[in-house]
Amino acid sequence: MFEKIIAQEKAKKILSEQIKNNKIPHAYIFMGEEGTGKMLTAIEFAKTLNCTINDYTKIDAGPCNHCSFCKHIDSGTFPDLHIINFEKQDEIAEKESEKGKTKLGIKLIRYMQEKVYIKATDGKWKFFIIEPAEKMTIEAFNCLLKTLEEPPDNTIIILIAKHKETIPVTILSRVQTVAFQPLPNIKISEYLQEKYSLSKENADKIADMADGSIEKAERLMVNTQNEYSVLWSELTSKKLAVADILIKSKSVAKDRESAIEAVSIITETATKFFRQNPAKYANIIEKLAESKRYLEQNANPTNVLDNLFMYINSKTKS
Ligand SMILES: [Zn+2]
Repeated sequence: MFEKIIAQEKAKKILSEQIKNNKIPHAYIFMGEEGTGKMLTAIEFAKTLNCTINDYTKIDAGPCNHCSFCKHIDSGTFPDLHIINFEKQDEIAEKESEKGKTKLGIKLIRYMQEKVYIKATDGKWKFFIIEPAEKMTIEAFNCLLKTLEEPPDNTIIILIAKHKETIPVTILSRVQTVAFQPLPNIKISEYLQEKYSLSKENADKIADMADGSIEKAERLMVNTQNEYSVLWSELTSKKLAVADILIKSKSVAKDRESAIEAVSIITETATKFFRQNPAKYANIIEKLAESKRYLEQNANPTNVLDNLFMYINSKTKS
C-alpha cells in the first residue's frame, strides 16, 4: 500500500491497518521533519479512501491513480480536499494587512469549520489538511478543538507539523500521532537516480548532504542545475579568453561522472534555446551529444570539456 511514499513503513502500516479494519480516527497529526513525505502521505490517504476502483478494506494496495477521484485529488481539483495553509489564509484575507502573516490565525480555522459541516459534494470522505500546524495561534487551536470534540461524519482532519512543541496537549490527546522518520540516504539516492537520471555517485553525494529530507535533496539538486545555467550564460553572453574557458572546464571536469552530468544538464538548457532559435543552436546540440558520447567512451574529461566550452563560446559569440 502507498507505493508512492518512500520508506515510512511504520506510518504506512498504521494507516493501512486502520483502513482495512475500518477503524479510522477522525483526526491525525503527521509529525516529522520536512521532506519526509507527510503531505504526500495525507494526499495518498485521501485518494485511498475515496478511490472508486478497489475495495481497500479487502485488498492491501494503494489508490488506483486512474479513477476520476484519484485524478481530481492529484490535480488539486477535488472539492472535498482542503489544504488549510498560509496560501489559503492569504486567499481568504479581506484586507491587505491580513496577508503575509507568520501564524495561522483563527479566521482560517473558522473558514475551515464552515466547510467541515457542509455535506461532501461527491466524495465519500472529506479531508482537511492543516499545514504547518505548529504555526497556529492559541486562538486558532482553541477554535479547532471544538471541531475535534464534535467530529462530523466521514471527515478527516490531518495536522502536519515538524514538531509538537507549540501544539497544546488538549489537541494532541484528540488526534492520532503518526511519526515520520528522516529518510535513509540510500532511499534518497535511489529517488534522485530515478527521477533526475543522476549517476549513483552524484546521487549518493547529494543524499549524504540532505539530512534525510527529499525536499532538501531536491533543493541541492536545483542548486547544481543553477550552477550549470550560470556557466551556460557565461559561455554564451560574451567572447571569453581561452584561459578563462579552460579554468571553467577544469572546475567541471573533476571526474568522468561529473563531466557527464554537467553535459546532460547543459544540454537541457541548450535545448530550450534551440527551440527558440534552431538555426543558431543546432550545431551546439550536436556537439553536446558528441561530447557526451566521447565521455562515455573514456575520452579525457578535461579535453572533451575544453573543446566543448570553446566551441559553445565561439559559435554563440563569434
Ligand atoms: Zn482511484
